[in-house]
Amino acid sequence: MSYAKSLKCRECGRIYEKKPIYVCEWCFGPLEVVYDYEKIKKVLTKERIMSRKENLWRYKELLPIDQEPTVGLNSGFTPFFEAKNLAKVLNCKKIFIKDDSVNHPTLSFKDRVVAVALSKAKEFGFHTVACASTGNLANSVSSHSKTAGFDCYVFIPSDLEKSKIISSLIYGVNLIAIDGNYDDVNRLCGEIASKYKWAFVNVNLRPYYAEGSKTYGFEIVEQLGWRTPQHIVVPAASGSLLTKIYKSFKEFEQIGLIKKSNTKFHIAQASGCSPIVTALKEKTEIIKPVKPKTIAKSLAIGNPADGFYAQDIIKKTGGFGEVATDNEIIKGIKLLAETEGVFTETAGGVVVAVCKKLIEQGKIKRDEEIVISITGNGLKTQEAIEDKVNKLIKIKPDIKSFEKVLKGR
Ligand SMILES: *Cc1c(COP(=O)(O)O)cnc(C)c1O
Ligand SMILES: [Zn+2]
Repeated sequence: MSYAKSLKCRECGRIYEKKPIYVCEWCFGPLEVVYDYEKIKKVLTKERIMSRKENLWRYKELLPIDQEPTVGLNSGFTPFFEAKNLAKVLNCKKIFIKDDSVNHPTLSFKDRVVAVALSKAKEFGFHTVACASTGNLANSVSSHSKTAGFDCYVFIPSDLEKSKIISSLIYGVNLIAIDGNYDDVNRLCGEIASKYKWAFVNVNLRPYYAEGSKTYGFEIVEQLGWRTPQHIVVPAASGSLLTKIYKSFKEFEQIGLIKKSNTKFHIAQASGCSPIVTALKEKTEIIKPVKPKTIAKSLAIGNPADGFYAQDIIKKTGGFGEVATDNEIIKGIKLLAETEGVFTETAGGVVVAVCKKLIEQGKIKRDEEIVISITGNGLKTQEAIEDKVNKLIKIKPDIKSFEKVLKGR
């Protein structure tokens, strides 16, 4: 039983059958999944959702599958908690963390999108899956492709962190490092996707893949007690996650699970790759592609596919955008670790740093409630901080040596 009716062009509104396609033949606009909300409204109640297993498929009526899900049955439903120590340091009233740094099985929010994309790839009858990735998507496609029984080709820029490379290779997939940045990788993948009958999760399956990000938003609403927060700070690479969290709030509104949401959406980018924030600050709708140069490699997309739509949401919800320098990113990572015990990757450092800035600038009021989006795990980006943490204390195995250290402190 499927509640996803068709695909629809976001620009001209033309309707397409549910197939592995992603652009409108008429206007080249991106395609998006449309649902029968009237039908969903009748079956998807809070009670129904809460009675289901704690994974992202508890919202399956709002995901674009026609059969029962087959991939990612342990993904999603990650921790959500109040960050009292962090709020104290930032001198504000209430901060919540949605923590996908411990998502299953590959420690980032990408396990959500891949669960949906590969379940869909199975339905379409593909045998080979592939992706263009800044790192985390590579890890997730690699892992899930094995458990789901696909052949797998993963394309990455060659300068990725060592952990992100090993965390793909461990699954025995074909990992192809391209001499270029993500935008070069993506361009090549577009070409490969048009030639080979493969399921490219973020190319020809992008409309389905992107829907998986909505579950991050659904969970925030459920874990907050069936309401939306006043503010949310979201990191952006292509901008897809931000647009889909917004869509998730609107869908829960539409099927009557929550009252009207007026969450302000704020976007966080690295100063070395901030095409969306730059356009916002310059008050132009045109997003100029950039050449990324930042330690936040998971966010290093210079030509963001959903940049325009992300910008639109930020403006219409009354949100803002800010950037974080490499140094601020490192400080953000450390601050989150020292206050909340969460070791996030560079993208999380960007979010913490940007949240701090927006509070200091008065763009987020100190007595208003904020959700920060932690989307990846610090174990994967250790080289970014290895010279920036405390020095290791090495001693001989005797009490004298230890007490010498104690005295020195
Ligand atoms: C991919 C990724 C994002 C952002 O993805 P979008 O392309 O904007 O949807 C954010 N954080 C981490 C850790 C990621 O890997
Ligand atoms: Zn169109």
